[in-house]
Amino acid sequence: MIQYGRQSIDDSDVEAVVSALRSDWLTTGPAVDRFEADVSRIAGAMLPAVAVTSGTAALHTAYRAARVGPGTEVVTTPLTFAATAATAALLGATVRFADVDEKTGNLDPDAAAAAVTRRTAVIAGVDYAGVPVDASRLSAVARSADAVFLEDAAHSIGSFLNGVPVGSLADITTFSFFPTKNATTAEGGAVVTSDSGLWDRARAFRNHGLVREAERQRHPDEGPWHQEVADFGLNYRMPDVLAALGSSQLLRLTLFKSRRAAIFDRYRAGLSGIDGLSLPSAPSGADPMWHLYAVRVPAEERRRLFETLRADGIGVQVNYIPVYWHPAFEDLGYRRGLCPVAEEWYRREISLPMHAGLSDSEVDLVIERVRKAFGS
Ligand SMILES: *Cc1c(COP(=O)(O)O)cnc(C)c1O
Repeated sequence: MIQYGRQSIDDSDVEAVVSALRSDWLTTGPAVDRFEADVSRIAGAMLPAVAVTSGTAALHTAYRAARVGPGTEVVTTPLTFAATAATAALLGATVRFADVDEKTGNLDPDAAAAAVTRRTAVIAGVDYAGVPVDASRLSAVARSADAVFLEDAAHSIGSFLNGVPVGSLADITTFSFFPTKNATTAEGGAVVTSDSGLWDRARAFRNHGLVREAERQRHPDEGPWHQEVADFGLNYRMPDVLAALGSSQLLRLTLFKSRRAAIFDRYRAGLSGIDGLSLPSAPSGADPMWHLYAVRVPAEERRRLFETLRADGIGVQVNYIPVYWHPAFEDLGYRRGLCPVAEEWYRREISLPMHAGLSDSEVDLVIERVRKAFGS
């Protein structure tokens, strides 16, 4: 089976992990500091990244930093992994799903603006497949709502919009380093912001809300051992062993990006001209690190094509079932039909294999099998 996504691990990654294991630190130490500086540099941020244990933890941390909680609302896209919305719901917020742009699958700024209320705390876009959201328009919507603009960049570390790196487009950005993403720490994530208030709250939340600096404590005279919980938090600390893998991976991020771009071009050349098959393309100004190769097919053919390709050894996927179709959201009263463009996208979508470790001959095999499934 040719997998739709997978990690690219080489000897330098193995050596980085082994040397972290042999060091004095296993959990949060100097490798995390280095990884946070590396992520921040790639993201073009003014402050170090806040490394956490997953992309989901990064979203939970970012929403909490933006003061999402009971009585607040989060406007987001349904065309994403459930965690983008579930973490806001877990904090007690109401999620308002707004529809997507028919060309990119990204949150439509007009739909987002229409979903804003007095209670909106965050507008959360997702860089679907690696294509950055329309950041200038979403940030204008967030400004006028006095809300925080969050970018779920689980697909898009390494992407740029009009020359600006993902990580510098929104008020706060979250990354995932799950194995299928653009670079991995096995499990891991990061929050990036250049806003010191958001940054302080994110740093505190991932470490129990602990305050160690005497000048910031309420009871500083307790003794030199004293640390206090100023606000509730969790243990979302990334271990050094995984951060060492992350920094090693990020050294090859541009290599991964160019390999993904070459695969994108090879698919485009090999799959163009098939009746009923719609191929992805980047909107003007976008320089994506392609995370997914998301094609669209006629809805009534999707299931047959998916099953044929799977049976033929091609590890296709579907990204994504609209989030509010999940029973957990259905039980809150969300109904099908809410975001028709996202639903139509879902009904027509198939993700072909896309990762830096795919060889040209594997890509050619995918092309041949897709052509065969279409009878073309
Ligand atoms: C993968 C993903 C997440 C969650 O990241 P994890 O590291 O798996 O917790 C969130 N949002 C999107 C869009 C994702 O693709």
